[in-house]
Amino acid sequence: MQNFLKMKNSSIIKQGDEMEKRIKQLVEIINQANHDYYILENPALSDKQYDDYLHELIELEKKHPNLVQQNSPTKKINVTTTTPFSKINHQTPMLSLSNAFNQEQLFEFDQRIKKQLSKYEYVCELKIDGLAVSIEYQNGQLKKAATRGDGYIGEDITNNIKTIQSLPKKLNKKINLIVRGEVFMSKQSFEKLNQYRQKNNQPLFANPRNAASGSVRQLNADITKERNLDCFIYHAENTPYDSHFKNLNYLKELGFNLNPNYEKVKNIEKAITYIQKWETKRKELSYETDGVVIKIDNLNQQQELGVTAKSPKWAIAYKYEPIEEITKILDIIFTVGRTGQITPNAVLEPVKIDGSLVSRTTLHNEKNVLEKDLRIGDYVFVRKAGDVIPEVVKPIIEKRDGTEKKFKMIKNCPICQSKIHKEETAAAHYCLNQQCEARIQESLIHFASRGALNIEGLGEKIIEVFYNEGWLKKINDFYTLKEKRDQIIGLNGFGEKRVDNILQNIENSKQKNLDRLIFALGIKHVGSKNAQILANEFQTIDNLKNANFETLVAIPHIGEKIAKSVENYFQDPKNQKLIEFLKKEAVNLIYQNKTTNQKFANQTFVITGTFSNYKREEIQEKITASGGKVTNKVTSKTDVLICGENPGSKLKDAQNQAIPIWDEKNLEKNLN
Ligand code: NAD
Repeated sequence: MQNFLKMKNSSIIKQGDEMEKRIKQLVEIINQANHDYYILENPALSDKQYDDYLHELIELEKKHPNLVQQNSPTKKINVTTTTPFSKINHQTPMLSLSNAFNQEQLFEFDQRIKKQLSKYEYVCELKIDGLAVSIEYQNGQLKKAATRGDGYIGEDITNNIKTIQSLPKKLNKKINLIVRGEVFMSKQSFEKLNQYRQKNNQPLFANPRNAASGSVRQLNADITKERNLDCFIYHAENTPYDSHFKNLNYLKELGFNLNPNYEKVKNIEKAITYIQKWETKRKELSYETDGVVIKIDNLNQQQELGVTAKSPKWAIAYKYEPIEEITKILDIIFTVGRTGQITPNAVLEPVKIDGSLVSRTTLHNEKNVLEKDLRIGDYVFVRKAGDVIPEVVKPIIEKRDGTEKKFKMIKNCPICQSKIHKEETAAAHYCLNQQCEARIQESLIHFASRGALNIEGLGEKIIEVFYNEGWLKKINDFYTLKEKRDQIIGLNGFGEKRVDNILQNIENSKQKNLDRLIFALGIKHVGSKNAQILANEFQTIDNLKNANFETLVAIPHIGEKIAKSVENYFQDPKNQKLIEFLKKEAVNLIYQNKTTNQKFANQTFVITGTFSNYKREEIQEKITASGGKVTNKVTSKTDVLICGENPGSKLKDAQNQAIPIWDEKNLEKNLN
């Protein structure tokens, strides 16, 4: 028995040792991450990794309060800065916010509030992804501005903050006031800045937040000015109101720039509705947001709830799925596009970003890879801003161990092995072999794709199958595919109904407008916009075919490169034959001028719900083709709501404003 006790105790001691070791390790990792993030603006962890480590530490400290370390980052951000800026003491500490990553944690937060308050309201605000600043006004004049620093002492960035245009240097009232806000860099300015730095071999910023932070903390305020920063104010001290919501309105009146999307809500359920509303909508904003901040509205209640050493108890930040992660480049492989363009692609260790698993992404061209110095084996920042394809932003040089392989551009096409070619002025390499299988398959995929002729049911995989069967080797074959109907039905997974659907969709594609067809042909340098310009200018494919370089280049927005490419395309006898073939097949080769039919001129439409005969894009196209305009929101300017099955809140909005509502049948009637 005694032996058993001894064993048990020693295993407890051992477990305790391990626990202490892990806690110390976490403290070290997080303190280092804080230094990299707040001081160097060069994080080596993703926010998700950081949050996970912090969460683990918080849980361990809760279970083992005797093991909490003196320098634990859960108590205070331990960053010692050797900053050249002078220091400013914050009159009230600039605290962090506690986080919630799911609804359950929000309900827990609400339950904690409920224990102390019986009636309360919340204010929801978008959480802007920048850096917090405190700005002091004396007698209405901007006097001092400071970064958050360690929460108690910040850096004096007064001169730099004054370069932000939207920030008032003088208020319209001669008052003393301290405000807090978030300085941020727009997505566009961030792209531009990194492009400039890439060209000039300067280290890249991982994200707009680090770029904003680096730009605010410049010794030369002229550089800050060039960086085009902006600032939203979200807090003020010593205001005449006891409501945060009223304070925000008051700040607006004083001339501050506030994020316009704040809302007062009655309860946590309504706050969750706000979070859900902004989950996808936020991607359309020109700046980055990483969550929603929920605050108790009444300031007296805020005071009653109080603060912990690190964060206020009356607020919580709900964090959206990260749009940025760190992962490893496992390989760099090459693909061949429809124009023969050779693209290097990073094969990534699969990582979840913004809700989807990312395992491969384009690296665009050799120049981009070399300028960013991306190597196989590198840990890299990958970002997915908005709905765009994930981008490898930069390697984490500090994580290299010498085993990484430098990038080398290939010399031959990976598919047909012919020598690849690079035009002097362009960044991309091309396979010039017109018969390269990859090029042919890609051009077929492009022809049927959404932005081109939108032939439903003929996706990448099926085109590959039909190609390998020998049924679809060139564009003409789309229109003779019906002759293969019985053979297709013989394939595994292709029932009669499915095949007839595909064939019918091919038939329907003949009616698409000329701009779509021009785009679908895959002429080098002719994207959908240029296709529209050309269709509008020439009205028929024959006119376009007969246009020479001089005529083409004289058209606004059509440069020499495009003009040459269009001329070359139509001079090729193979392409001339294709046009003749399309004519015989009764494919529409005339532009249905979008401005000739003015049935819906000066009318604004909003579309909601799903439709049995059309996709929303098709309805939108039909409306714009008839001179109408389609917008996203029901307002007093909306003339008609087109309403399908399962409509969203737009239906209610339209009903409230007595706006006419058309169903699918009504729409068809009006169109005809
Ligand atoms: P936080 O990001 O969780 O939230 C607090 C901050 O939100 C405030 O300081 C303020 O700047 C900002 N904010 C934006 N809009 C606001 C609004 N409307 N109202 C109030 N505040 C608003 O906390 P934090 O302490 O600033 O930073 C911690 C976070 O930073 C971590 O959770 C992590 O995501 C990231 N971080 C990452 C690393 C890394 O290595 N990747 C290191 C340190 C911190």
